[in-house]
Amino acid sequence: MLSTARRRLRIRRIGLVTGAALLALCVLAAALWWFFPIRRANTRVQALREATLPDYVTADLIPTVGTARSGRTLSDFSGIVIHYVGNPGSSAAGNRNYFATPGTQVVSHFVVGLEGEVIQCLPLWEQSVASNHRNKDTISIEVCHPDETGQFNPATYAAVVRLTAWLCEVGDLSTERVIRHYDVSGKECPRYYVRNEAAWEQFLSDVQQARND
Ligand SMILES: [Zn+2]
Repeated sequence: MLSTARRRLRIRRIGLVTGAALLALCVLAAALWWFFPIRRANTRVQALREATLPDYVTADLIPTVGTARSGRTLSDFSGIVIHYVGNPGSSAAGNRNYFATPGTQVVSHFVVGLEGEVIQCLPLWEQSVASNHRNKDTISIEVCHPDETGQFNPATYAAVVRLTAWLCEVGDLSTERVIRHYDVSGKECPRYYVRNEAAWEQFLSDVQQARND
């Protein structure tokens, strides 16, 4: 009788130990599953922190007080969002100064102007306020345009291609990660490249070409 009771006790102990070991393994697996995506994300954000700006970029960061600049760090860098400013003929400096005006609700990382000039408005690792729910993991580029169609002129276009290709290199992102504001929220932005799907495809192909060069 006693030996049967002991055996049962032993079996129960073995069961408990096995259960605890399985539980520990599950916890470990869950921890690894959580930990590694975060590490990968941080690696890309770290790449933004360590990146040296190309010499064609002028840094003119907007103030943190009174503007939409939140100072929040990106949770990841997994995409680049292209916008158009929607204000024909306006300059990169003009749009940058608009972002810096107290009370404005928008700020992007870059503005590309009509002469191909590129102004950086935010540190690369900070979140912009331009791309809705993708603010947290993307770099945003606002692009100037001469008229209502929203088509970029040749100088602007070339600068956007070059800047986008550089950002892809920094984050080791494929051109599939380059998207329009339209792809995030359905907004008609950048207008010309939403209305002309072929022009958008050409843009992506030109970014890829710039990466290969
Ligand atoms: Zn937009």
